[in-house]
Formats: sequence, structure tokens, C-alpha cells
Amino acid sequence: MSDGTSDIGTFDAIIVGAGVGWLYAIHRLRKLGLKVRAFESGDGVGGTWYWNRYPGCRCDVESLEYSYSFSDDLQQEWHWPERYGRQPEILRYINHVADRFDLRSDIEFNTRVKEAVFDSKTNLWTVKTDKGHIATAHFCIMATGNLSTPRKPNIAGLDCFGGKWYHTGLWPHEGVDFTGLRVGVIGTGSSGVQSIPIIAKQAKHLYVFQRTANFSLPARNVPMPSDKERAHKAEYPARRRAAFDTPFGIAGYPTPVKSALEATEEERRHAYEAKWAEGGSISFLYSYTDLLVNKESNDTASEFVRQQIRATVKDPRTADLLCPNDHPIGTKRLILDTDYYETYNRDNVTLVDIRSKPIQEITPTGLRIADAEYVLDAIVFATGFDAMTGAMKEIDIHTDAGLSIRAKWEGGPRTYLGIMMAGFPNLFMITGPQSPGVKSQMILACEQHVDWIADCLQYLRDRGLTRIEAEQDAEDSWVQHNNEVADRTLYPLANSWYVGANIPGKPRVFMPYVGGVTAYKKKCDEVAAKGYEGFRLGGITDERRFAAD
Ligand SMILES: Cc1cc2nc3c(=O)[nH]c(=O)nc-3n(C[C@H](O)[C@H](O)[C@H](O)COP(=O)(O)OP(=O)(O)OC[C@H]3O[C@@H](n4cnc5c(N)ncnc54)[C@H](O)[C@@H]3O)c2cc1C
Repeated sequence: MSDGTSDIGTFDAIIVGAGVGWLYAIHRLRKLGLKVRAFESGDGVGGTWYWNRYPGCRCDVESLEYSYSFSDDLQQEWHWPERYGRQPEILRYINHVADRFDLRSDIEFNTRVKEAVFDSKTNLWTVKTDKGHIATAHFCIMATGNLSTPRKPNIAGLDCFGGKWYHTGLWPHEGVDFTGLRVGVIGTGSSGVQSIPIIAKQAKHLYVFQRTANFSLPARNVPMPSDKERAHKAEYPARRRAAFDTPFGIAGYPTPVKSALEATEEERRHAYEAKWAEGGSISFLYSYTDLLVNKESNDTASEFVRQQIRATVKDPRTADLLCPNDHPIGTKRLILDTDYYETYNRDNVTLVDIRSKPIQEITPTGLRIADAEYVLDAIVFATGFDAMTGAMKEIDIHTDAGLSIRAKWEGGPRTYLGIMMAGFPNLFMITGPQSPGVKSQMILACEQHVDWIADCLQYLRDRGLTRIEAEQDAEDSWVQHNNEVADRTLYPLANSWYVGANIPGKPRVFMPYVGGVTAYKKKCDEVAAKGYEGFRLGGITDERRFAAD
């Protein structure tokens, strides 16, 4: 077209994003015979694992669990070389899956979706991209990710910085060599904690600028023991089923049987020491039944970790600064590390407290806080993401009735089951807010949502229906339930990205569903079994059916 746009046609479904959610979605929808088109802003598949190439980036769910379950051949064939997958390995795996199941066609890479608008007369979404594509579809599936909108803090002076700066979530593909450089890392969430030990080994000097100390546990990563892999593979289907009977969607950990307060101090110490030695966050949180709901119980676990930090870090002042004391353990994303606390015993590493003395500005030669200036050759922003709502709100999603997501979510996200929203027919989200997504093993969460959506589309098609929309009442009750469940836990006590606390001005609303994967899946299954209870289904009799029919 003369205005630079190009109409690329009508599809049954458009998928936005090409991470692990997209991959399974395109596989399932193609099996239904649907005509699908996808858009991805990066130039390859993988989402999180495509973008986050910072040193030390690694999964903190064991690799035998953090993988697709939809093909037994795939899960039997693939060999994970380590207990926890490294980013390059996970990306290799995702690329392998894309090739093995021939999923790469029907996708436009390097293409960002800017706008999606719903027409209630035709029940069609029209999607527009930054490359000028215009595509229409009955169904729009947002697989845009929860941690896909990197956030660089708005610090004065960055434009004038004479060195180089990086964001962990937008890491250069060719890698970065910090050898001989004075490096500043800003942020001590998971990305910071994973990268700091590796950057410290390269840098001439590493300054870590910490606002909030976070709890981190040893990962105890090891090469994959072959007997463990064999045993796991022999029971894969049963283990995958069992994962849905757990709160976090991860099987293989003994269910705790008692409160931390029912154990003696000695018993608790033994239990926590065993978990510390074993490595892993789920295992640690499973020490007792009530670590995430009873502050007194949680204090015993939090204090145990603080003791480990003090025992590891030689300088008492640094150790003190590294001890988290503003949130119960587990209420922010619990980090897994390799030699994080040990790194502070190196002569070339300095921890700088920017809670008491905030960063004032970035200068041409470094960074200034109240009473000191640090000369830096490179700055790494490990400052996280506009989590859970950022990617959706970046797209101008609206309807011809005048509703927009940005306005609807102004006071925080509102969804029914984290899958759909009232007022936005035929718009699905994969692991949207108010689903367990980020509080679970996310490949399992993506597969569950994709299966639910694919079954729903099949249900509609079988009945000649072309429209589904969450009812307002159902959405309101789900949001209320979500909040009530969260309020029964310790999660809301933390200033975490789960409540948007890392983004200035973001409404403080607890976003993930923390009632557990088991309860959540049961609810989703019941809703579907009752003919999509809480959803209004319909169609326009004389309109075209699904394009593939
Ligand atoms: C560093 C890091 C470590 C993690 N570790 C774990 C872990 O150990 N265990 C776990 O379960 N989960 C982990 N996660 C969560 C991880 O995000 C999920 O496991 C999973 O990869 C999410 O897949 P997804 O397809 O839903 O989204 P993503 O992988 O985020 O993919 C979304 C894609 O959508 C694209 N996109 C977004 N908006 C647009 C647009 N407007 N137009 C076009 N494309 C768009 C993005 O470019 C991105 O490629 C981690 C996340 C991070 C950042």
C-alpha cells in the first residue's frame, strides 16, 4: 500500500511473541488445522532465553522439570547436560523443538506489534506492526511474556556516560568481555546475583550497587548424573502428572508435614542445613508447611539464611548489608546462585549501599552517590522488568467500544483466570496476571494455558461459535479471590515485582495467583467442563467461520 502498510490477510489466530508459550501454541493450533500468524520483536525464537544472554544466566528450576511435556519422544531424546540449564543450552533446546516440530514458518521476526483493535461487528482483531503489517484474525493470543519488558532506571546523566552500559535483559549476542575494566552492577535481583560472580572474575574491579538485599540460596549445580536422568526419564509421564498436584508445578520434593513451629530448634537447624546442602529453592521452601503463610515460622528460615551469609562473608559490614531484613524469605523471587556470597570475599569486589545513599547521577566517567564517586568503564543494569503487565500495556490494545487495556489496568491488572478479560472478546493471554505463571514452573504453566485455549477454540468451532468473552462478574470474583488468597500469605509483605514495587508509579497490586497450581488447574478444568462457565459465548451467524474451514 502507498502508506507503507501491507495487508497480509486474515487468520484464525494471531500469536504475539515467540517464547516457550508461542512454540507450544503454534504446535497445538496447527494441529487443530487453524491458520496462524505470529509476530516476534526479536530475530529468533526463545523469548526470555533469546534476550537474557548475560553471564551466568541459568534456570533455577531443574532442567528435567523445566522442559516441554507434550512429546514423550522429545523428553526422552533430549539430554540436559547439567542439573540446571544454562541460557545457551535452553536456547539450543527451544531452537531444537522449533525445528523438530517444524514450527518456524508463519512467523515474522524483527517485528513488534504496536496495536490490536477489536471490531465487534465482525468479531475480528486487527493487528498492526512496526513494519507496517496489517493482519486480521478471529483470535489474538498474547504470548508476550511476564518478564519481557526490560526496565532501565531513569538515572540522570546516563546519556553522557563515556563508557558502555548494558541491561541484563537485552544482552549483546556477541557477549561482553569485562577483562581489565572497572565495572558497576546496579541491582541484586536474580540477574545481578547470577552475573556478579562471573563478572567479578573478569573485571579489574567490580562495584555492586545494592538497594535491597535479597535472599539467595546455593544452586549446587552439577553435571547431570546419568542415573538421575535415567530414573527421571523412566517415570516422565507420571512425574509430569504429579507436577500438577503441587503448589509450584514442580514434582519430586517430599511434601512437608508440619509447621516450622512444631519442630525443635535443633530439628529446624538440621532440616535447613540439609536443604542448604542439597541446593534449590523449592526444596528449601518445602522444609515446613507454613513458611509462606506464618511470619514466625518464616523468621526461622530467614534467620538461618542470614546466619549462612554471615558465616560466608568475611567482612562483617559487607555481610550485614547482604543480609535481607525487609521481607520474609520466599516472598520475593527466591534466587539460586553459584558463589554469590563468596564473591564478596574477593579483593576486587566492593558492595555499595545505595539504600542509605542513593545514586545521584551517572557522570561521564562513572557514577556518583551522596559522598563518593566511582570511576567506571562499564555499567550493567540488572534492574529487572516491568513485570507481568509491561508487555501488554506497551501494545495499544483497544476495542471499537472504546475500551483499552491501558485504561482497564490503570489500577492494576484485572483478568478472569489470567486468560481473558471482560470487554475484550477473543483475546487470550498465556500466563497472564492472576494466573500462577511466574509462581510456577513456567513451561508447565504455558502448556496448561495453551491446552486450555486450544480446547476452547475447538469447542467454539464444533458449535459454530466465533466469540468468547469473560463475564464481568466472573472477572470481578476472580480478582477478589486472587487478592484474598494472596492476603492469606506473607507475599504482600514484600516490595517485590509481584506487586509492581520496582516500577515507580505502578499501582501496588499483587499480580500472580498464589493459591497453587493444583487449585488453579482444577478451577480452569471445571470452567471448561461446565461449557466455559463465566464466559459469554456467541457468534454472528452470517459471518465467515474460522478461515481454515
Ligand atoms: C533471567 C530469567 C530467568 C528465568 N528463570 C526461570 C526459571 O528458572 N524457571 C521458570 O519457570 N521461569 C523462569 N523465568 C521466566 C521465563 O520468562 C519463563 O520461564 C518463560 O521463558 C516465559 O515464556 P513466554 O513464552 O511466556 O514469554 P517470553 O519468553 O518472555 O517471550 C515473550 C516474547 O514476546 C515478545 N514480545 C513481547 N511483546 C511483543 C510485541 N509487542 N511484539 C512482538 N513481540 C513481542 C518478546 O520479544 C519475547 O520474545 C525466567 C525469566 C528470566 C527473565
